[in-house]
Amino acid sequence: MTGEPDGADRAEPCIFCEIVAGRIPSTEVERTPTTYAFRDINPAAPVHVLVVPTLHVGSVHDLGPGDATLLSDLMAAVQRIAEGEGVAATGYRLVANVGADAGQTVAHLHLHVLGGRPMRWPPE
Ligand code: 5GP
Ligand code: ZN
Repeated sequence: MTGEPDGADRAEPCIFCEIVAGRIPSTEVERTPTTYAFRDINPAAPVHVLVVPTLHVGSVHDLGPGDATLLSDLMAAVQRIAEGEGVAATGYRLVANVGADAGQTVAHLHLHVLGGRPMRWPPE
């Protein structure tokens, strides 16, 4: 993983680093030392929360063997959020877009937690 304290020294500001640092406002769902969760600005479902590492990681593809604890932290956050948002029992979808063909638009790893309505599979 790469990892910078808050992304401030990046050549181009990363919007999710800016959100983690509070320089861009967001609606917080929860924060831990290693993860931050906030509501998606353009929700695709009644529940649409983004979970990101507080340090910059480009995508799932940039994770490595040293990121086991971070991965565990992210998944624990997902579980707490699903419980807190009331979708743990009804079900939810966890999405990590990686790269252009998947439609990743923000190059800071983020997990979409989507729920609150039935969702079809497969996606388009
Ligand atoms: P991606 O397409 O990269 O998987 O998902 C990026 C997500 O970030 C999109 O669902 C988009 O609506 C959300 N997003 C982009 N910019 C912002 C922002 O400034 N604030 C919030 N809360 N969400 C954002
Ligand atoms: Zn970032």
